[in-house]
Amino acid sequence: MTELTDRFNRKHEYLRISLTDNCNLNCIYCSPIGSCIPKTEKKDILTYEEIIRIVNLFAVAGFKKFRFTGGEPLLRRDVLALFEKLSELRKKYKFELLITTNGILLHDKIDKLMEYGVERLNISLDSLKSDNFIKINGSKDYLQIVIDNIEQAIAADIKIKINTVIIRGINETELIDFCDFSIKYSVNVRFIEFMPFSSNNWNKEQFISSAEMREIISAKYLLKRLDQDLSTSDNYLIEGTGGMIGFINPISDHFCSSCNRLRISSDSNLKLCLFSESSGSINFKKMINQNYTDSQMLDIISAALQNKESEHSAITNSKLLLNNEMLNIGG
Ligand code: SAM
Repeated sequence: MTELTDRFNRKHEYLRISLTDNCNLNCIYCSPIGSCIPKTEKKDILTYEEIIRIVNLFAVAGFKKFRFTGGEPLLRRDVLALFEKLSELRKKYKFELLITTNGILLHDKIDKLMEYGVERLNISLDSLKSDNFIKINGSKDYLQIVIDNIEQAIAADIKIKINTVIIRGINETELIDFCDFSIKYSVNVRFIEFMPFSSNNWNKEQFISSAEMREIISAKYLLKRLDQDLSTSDNYLIEGTGGMIGFINPISDHFCSSCNRLRISSDSNLKLCLFSESSGSINFKKMINQNYTDSQMLDIISAALQNKESEHSAITNSKLLLNNEMLNIGG
């Protein structure tokens, strides 16, 4: 078996695939209204057959986790058909199937996703107040729909985590409300530091570090730090409750040394790191169309992986990176 290990001895086992760069939201941190992010042409989007081929390829290389994201992955037409096919592959390779979604289109899909082996959902929810939801997500007020779908997911017993991007001046006032939400539903809420990309209007005044978030929360709740294992988030129990929160600190404390992930963007390019130029030269659709064999593709991926840096450069540089939008790469 060809394992995908880089020159810093990091064995890669986790692939994130962006299914589409279409989204039903226009979040201010990702694709604010008017941001004019170029759309991937339909012909460049991976078909389900191509995705299955790619997942098979990485599963053979020992990958254990596959996350589907976007854009909004549940907007892909007949998306359940993809997961049905993936469930067949999963019987052979026993990998984890995961989805990151804004939760708006979940209601009629939860049962089937579970049947097809999707074990966990990360649901993005940035506000518990309608006015802030509209402001942050640049959309209609979908708040109650998302909460109803979260409740449905909890009732169905699928594991979920809530991801919340915190922006100073907008929703840092809701940190305690999200802790209360975590307690009410016994669900893990993870607060994410706001990252700069060329499409968003990030500025340091809006940035709030996880240390400061913790301080705000600690005024009301006692937090007990948990063992970190290989988690990308710094996790805490809210003492005396069933609540649990985490902090994802891409800016104040990156987790490059244990990075084991690769990404494929919606235009089917390999991406070694969220904050690196896209390896446009490694395009899965092209390789498949040119009839590369699996072993040729793995050799190419393995060679590219040797260019992965030990850690990414200052994240604020990511504003300068071209074609590096979360909408396309997938969060
Ligand atoms: N549509 C899906 C969703 O909403 O979960 C998947 C894609 S979306 C790009 C995934 C997530 O990436 C966002 O909800 C957010 O948590 C994270 N994200 C995107 N841009 C970000 C930024 N500038 N800073 C921090 N997190 C960001």
